[in-house]
Amino acid sequence: TYIVTEQCIACKHMDCVEVCPVDCFYEGENMLVIHPDECIDCGVCEPECPADAIRPALSADDDDWVAFNAKYARLWPNI
Ligand code: SF4
Repeated sequence: TYIVTEQCIACKHMDCVEVCPVDCFYEGENMLVIHPDECIDCGVCEPECPADAIRPALSADDDDWVAFNAKYARLWPNI
């Protein structure tokens, strides 16, 4: 899955949301998140993010970010 990280906080751009082919971006409390079960790993969103907040989850070090994205993806309505 791809993950949204802290650089997204306070970013007002929505370029990532517009390009995602499966609409798996959700709104967290102060940043966007990606639903890890819906992301198809296409990578289209990563270069669209002006804040460089999006990247693939590559190692166990990213598990906390995956859990954070999953938590807010399930709590908030799809945008
Ligand atoms: Fe959507 Fe593709 Fe980005 Fe996953 S990698 S969030 S499917 S645009």
